Amino acid sequence: MKSNKLRQSFLDFFKEKDHTIVPSMSLIPKDDPSLLFIIAGMVQFKPLWTGAIPLPYSRATSVQKCLRTSDLDNVGKTRRHLTFFEMLGNFSFGDYFKEEAIIWAWEFLLDVLHIDESRLAVSVYKNDDEAFNIWHKKIGLQKNKISRLGEESNFWGPAGNTGPCGPCSEIFYDLGEEYGCGQNACGPGCDCDRYPEIWNLVFPQFNQTVSGKREPLKNRGVDTGMGFERLVAVVQKKDSFFQTDLFYPIIEDIIANRDISYGKDKVKDIELNVIADHIRALTFAIGDGVIPSNEERGYVLRRILRRAVRLCRNLGFNQAFLYKLVPRVVDIYKTAYPELLERREEITLVVKSEEERFLFTMEKGLQQFEDISKTRNSISGEEAFKLYDTYGFPIELTREIALEKGITVDEEGFTNKLEKARENSKAKAKFMPKGEWTILSDENGAFMGYDKVEIETEIIKYNIYEKIIEIVLKESPFYAEAGGQIGDKGEILGHGYKLAVQDTYWYQSMIVCHCTLTQGTFSPGKVVARVAVSHRKESARAHTATHLLHAALRKVLGEHARQEGSFVEPGRFRFDFIHFNPLSDDEIKGIEDLVNKKILANIPVEKFNATLEKAKKLGAMAIFGEKYGSDVRVIKINDFSIELCGGIHLDNTGEIGLFKIISQEAAAAGIRRIEAIVGLRLFEEIRKNETTIKEIANLVGGKNVDLVNWVSDSLQKFKETEKAYQETLSELARSEAMVLLAKLWEEKSNFIAKELKNYGSQGMRLVADMIRAKTKKALGIFYEKKKGKIYYLIFVGDEFVNKLPANNLIREVSKILGGGGGGRPHMAEGGGGDPTKISQAIDFLKSKIK
Ligand SMILES: [Zn+2]
Ligand SMILES: [Zn+2]
Repeated sequence: MKSNKLRQSFLDFFKEKDHTIVPSMSLIPKDDPSLLFIIAGMVQFKPLWTGAIPLPYSRATSVQKCLRTSDLDNVGKTRRHLTFFEMLGNFSFGDYFKEEAIIWAWEFLLDVLHIDESRLAVSVYKNDDEAFNIWHKKIGLQKNKISRLGEESNFWGPAGNTGPCGPCSEIFYDLGEEYGCGQNACGPGCDCDRYPEIWNLVFPQFNQTVSGKREPLKNRGVDTGMGFERLVAVVQKKDSFFQTDLFYPIIEDIIANRDISYGKDKVKDIELNVIADHIRALTFAIGDGVIPSNEERGYVLRRILRRAVRLCRNLGFNQAFLYKLVPRVVDIYKTAYPELLERREEITLVVKSEEERFLFTMEKGLQQFEDISKTRNSISGEEAFKLYDTYGFPIELTREIALEKGITVDEEGFTNKLEKARENSKAKAKFMPKGEWTILSDENGAFMGYDKVEIETEIIKYNIYEKIIEIVLKESPFYAEAGGQIGDKGEILGHGYKLAVQDTYWYQSMIVCHCTLTQGTFSPGKVVARVAVSHRKESARAHTATHLLHAALRKVLGEHARQEGSFVEPGRFRFDFIHFNPLSDDEIKGIEDLVNKKILANIPVEKFNATLEKAKKLGAMAIFGEKYGSDVRVIKINDFSIELCGGIHLDNTGEIGLFKIISQEAAAAGIRRIEAIVGLRLFEEIRKNETTIKEIANLVGGKNVDLVNWVSDSLQKFKETEKAYQETLSELARSEAMVLLAKLWEEKSNFIAKELKNYGSQGMRLVADMIRAKTKKALGIFYEKKKGKIYYLIFVGDEFVNKLPANNLIREVSKILGGGGGGRPHMAEGGGGDPTKISQAIDFLKSKIK
């Protein structure tokens, strides 16, 4: 049975038993920041057993896309590990229970899939006599085919410390003795490969409370999960899922491009398996909106992709190849997941661009490995960091390659380096400090500016070069550029002098004010530091607006629309986020409306510090891989937006004033960039537009003119005029051609030279065409002198075309006139040059025709 048919027959089977078919959720969990990807079919049904929400149905069935990366290293080597997989499930919420679940599972395996009954064995929870008796008495299974297993394997949940949980009953498939470990105790549940579990029937019947007590569950029921790939292998009688129709076409595509075969070399087989696995995961995850990046899910994807790219190289692919497998994956799954087909080009593009980016540096990185492994058997933290930073090797990849080569990696040293680099990148010295720092105190100074805009403090370090003075204050009210928000401006008043602070930025963990002296003579000591409030306020308007926009994007476009970067300046900002398509006018309007609604609601912007754990519980959006201290700053706008952010914010959303998107574009593959303006800046923009409209209205007849009508009428009139002009022009051209032809015949000549005034090149062509239609033996030049220049056209009748092609003549003539031109053998045009040379050019042509 083909996999597509098998999947559908499962859904159909349970639909016949009154189950609602529920479509797979996206791989990206909704509203669950603790979960990177969906890892089981039951995730979307969880609240239905506890009764947290009213039941939309009491029986459901689904095929859920899942992605698991916890066992990445085992993928391809074993019979059980995959990153992407599908989970078949049937579910009951306060409806049927153990008996139906067991009987139907058996019926599906035997009557629909025709699996050999003698190969099947089952397990129940150690003291679950109810399940045991159903298997033994109702199904008629021999006692020796029913194992009683313990808490670890046959009691499910709760996920976390509280929630639904209950016993399970599993169904195993016996692959045969040759797959076993040979030990006496070998049987269902054994760690070896002989008895893969194909179906797990879970019976959630308790609710575990905080104290650990198990109370009866409100809607006790059934939650089953059957690994689709494993089932397909059993039904298609394949040794592993890599040989089923879910994987093998991908493997065939790879080996078709290389001189290798499958099933001969174990190492190569594993590499092929891994690539086939990884490209499936990439295709599905990118299809659901994840983009390879250095953050959270994006980082998981980047790891998977780079791992696969390296394996492709091991197989001899030196050019980007992985992306070519995307259409194959889509082809395998398009019936069940038509959305993949819709996004095939985008997915391919994302894989390709990320692949090419890594290939660019990978060779050099691998060379580093070679060099190191020749002399030593360890990689230092610094070297691992260089591989990461310069050559794009995720630390996991470095670990994997090192393992292959039998060398160790100082991962702690790597982590330290990474943290240092993150701190330094905050400083990303826009102004590379020159000169010598004078250090008055070893401390780095502190930022005190969240709630103060003026501080009496002292200078602890300074650096003078050219006309610049750089200052580090003991307590700085100035915000240094970070998190996409530009640094504060302001002034520093010292004893008898004044400094203008033009920018503030991080440098080696210090807040540096970039100043010029505007008054007096500089000397270190006590100073008053004062932030330029309006500059800061305008930046804050834009920054708070980015948080509203981020939340609105996720509401309107979907959860995938995560921030990828931003840049905030007074009254204006740029915001990059993950999204595949250009935003429609409706989407933009929806986003603008939502943000403005939140502005007009004048919601207080709460700013507080919390532990990272607490912030995450609140649902705060955090940047993955970013090192947060135990204490983080949370910016909370109702429940609409909660983010970890160190930036300067308003006190109320109303202070933003108004918000408008002014442009959108693609920033990179899968990443869109929005530009928006707010507050007074937006007001100025509106006023400017209004002035423009007024000026246009004045031009066309006063302020009461309906501009849209005026433009549309004028366009219509213009078209009519254009048409009339064309008609007149061809009429004129015809009579001109007649006159010229008559002259030719009368003079028995075959050469024409004439200045055609106001015909333009279009008119000249018309006259030439008409003459060429009437006589095959003619050569001519038309020209027009205009503002000290000359424009000209040469045409050649059909009989002369071979001997005297116009495109050659035009070159010669252009040389004489000092202009330039080109065209085709029958007609060519030129321009520029000196009009006084025209008789010379005419003489030249005359000589040619003789
Ligand atoms: Zn065993
Ligand atoms: Zn922020």
